[in-house]
Amino acid sequence: MPLSPLLPADALAANFTDLKPPLRPQEAFVEASRCLYCFDAPCIMACPTGIDIPAFIKKIAFGNPAGAAKTILTANILGASCARVCPTEVLCEGACVLDDRDEQPIMIGRLQRYATDYVTERGLNVLPQPPAKKSGQKIAVIGAGPAGLGCAAELAQLGHSVTILERQKQAGGLNTYGIAYYKMKPQVSLAEVKLVQSLGVELRTGVAVGQHVTIAELEKEYDALFVGVGLGAATRLHIPGEELPEVVDALEFISRIHTDPLHTVPVGHRVAVIGAGNTAIDAVTQSKRLGAERAFIVYRRAEGDMSAYDFEYEHAKHDGAQFVFHAMPVEVVATNGHVSGLKLVRTQLVKGKLSPVPGTEWIEPCDLVLKAVGQEKQVKLLRGLFPELVVDERGVIAHDPLTGQTNLPHVFVGGDCGNGGREVVNAVGEGKKAAHGIHAFLTSQTAEPPVQPSRLGAKQGATGSGLLHPIRAQELEAALKAK
Ligand SMILES: Cc1cc2nc3c(=O)[nH]c(=O)nc-3n(C[C@H](O)[C@H](O)[C@H](O)COP(=O)(O)OP(=O)(O)OC[C@H]3O[C@@H](n4cnc5c(N)ncnc54)[C@H](O)[C@@H]3O)c2cc1C
Ligand code: SF4
Repeated sequence: MPLSPLLPADALAANFTDLKPPLRPQEAFVEASRCLYCFDAPCIMACPTGIDIPAFIKKIAFGNPAGAAKTILTANILGASCARVCPTEVLCEGACVLDDRDEQPIMIGRLQRYATDYVTERGLNVLPQPPAKKSGQKIAVIGAGPAGLGCAAELAQLGHSVTILERQKQAGGLNTYGIAYYKMKPQVSLAEVKLVQSLGVELRTGVAVGQHVTIAELEKEYDALFVGVGLGAATRLHIPGEELPEVVDALEFISRIHTDPLHTVPVGHRVAVIGAGNTAIDAVTQSKRLGAERAFIVYRRAEGDMSAYDFEYEHAKHDGAQFVFHAMPVEVVATNGHVSGLKLVRTQLVKGKLSPVPGTEWIEPCDLVLKAVGQEKQVKLLRGLFPELVVDERGVIAHDPLTGQTNLPHVFVGGDCGNGGREVVNAVGEGKKAAHGIHAFLTSQTAEPPVQPSRLGAKQGATGSGLLHPIRAQELEAALKAK
């Protein structure tokens, strides 16, 4: 049977309400007051954008949320979305010293949301304005995802003229189209795009580089290029029945939740999700929240081998998702041209290699199959755009991790297409690093990644602004000691 929406609008609105709701002012004050304001705070080192976390939390405790937002946003232009989507359990909050004392870590993400919401809701502009006198250098940023936006904002602050080219109708990348809807609504991402534009960055949407404009044309007009094109479509399953209409890329399914009214998004009564990473978890959880009676993950290996974070796994189980381990799909079964089941076979490890166990096939009834076994790398696109660009054996663009520079000196990279697929905050951090790499390239200076203030002994309350590679940190600390 063709798929249809299952729940009315009011039930869906309740199901997709924010997983981590905003803190009220009094709650934020109490939480901020628990912080020890560590001098050499490990949470800063754990944040890929190096936000001066104790400084912004102290500002909240002293009744200055706008100042807190300034500290956050100058270090991370996507501070509002990161506050909602960062896996804080394994980043800043995971590093909080209170954890070692068997106390609850500070709710850094929710405090970050409190401060950034405060300025967004009031329309306050807390960012320092870019220099009025431009450098005269022009940079094209390909892709308006977190990496491209992070790079563009930093380049604008450094005084350069920046144009972002984005193939989609709306900017923001996966922040606008891919994040689980109960974590963040696209409006938050779109407000951040406006913030980047407010720095004087030009945004051209609906422009696919390689299709509407060539690299040669860009190279003629711009002095340097940043590539932040992310990853591609879902990896294929290569099993019979994959072409059936109800076998869908999990990303495409999630994207519809973002672009269409919730009560119009079709879902199956029984949904099989293939894969066990964070995208699979988002797909199975959102299927349940859209009204599926049964939604289950199919994974070839054991529970402990799943790449999804533990807290995401717990969340999916809490939402009623089910898990079929040690099983792999061999065929999508159809009745009258529509999906009616997924044929699975048991797997076992033989001499370290995963193999199907003959004679153990069975059919799990389902009417929707979501593919979430990873996203393809953009090798084809990248080779087409830059035939001489070195793409490594993992299918990602080889580059200097400190500057994002590739083997083509004027081409820089960051985000998923350079790291193979990580988190939003990694993409922003890498975009920032590349901006400093581009700045150094264009001004013939040595690249200096932005510095984390507390690591260098700056006073509490100073504004954090970025990353410091551990080697550089040691060098700089040694230099300071020698003074
Ligand atoms: C389903 C899903 C859920 C996720 N959930 C989380 C989460 O909860 N928390 C988290 O931190 N991370 C999450 N991530 C990871 C995170 O979304 C990515 O790491 C991040 O978006 C990477 O940013 P990016 O800028 O490198 O790429 P993208 O966000 O993919 O942006 C790339 C941009 O480039 C554009 N583009 C591509 N080709 C061209 C071209 N030829 N011309 C012009 N533009 C082009 C694309 O349209 C896109 O807008 C999730 C990822 C997925 C798939
Ligand atoms: S950006 Fe993410 S990792 Fe960094 S402090 Fe904020 S919530 Fe934590």
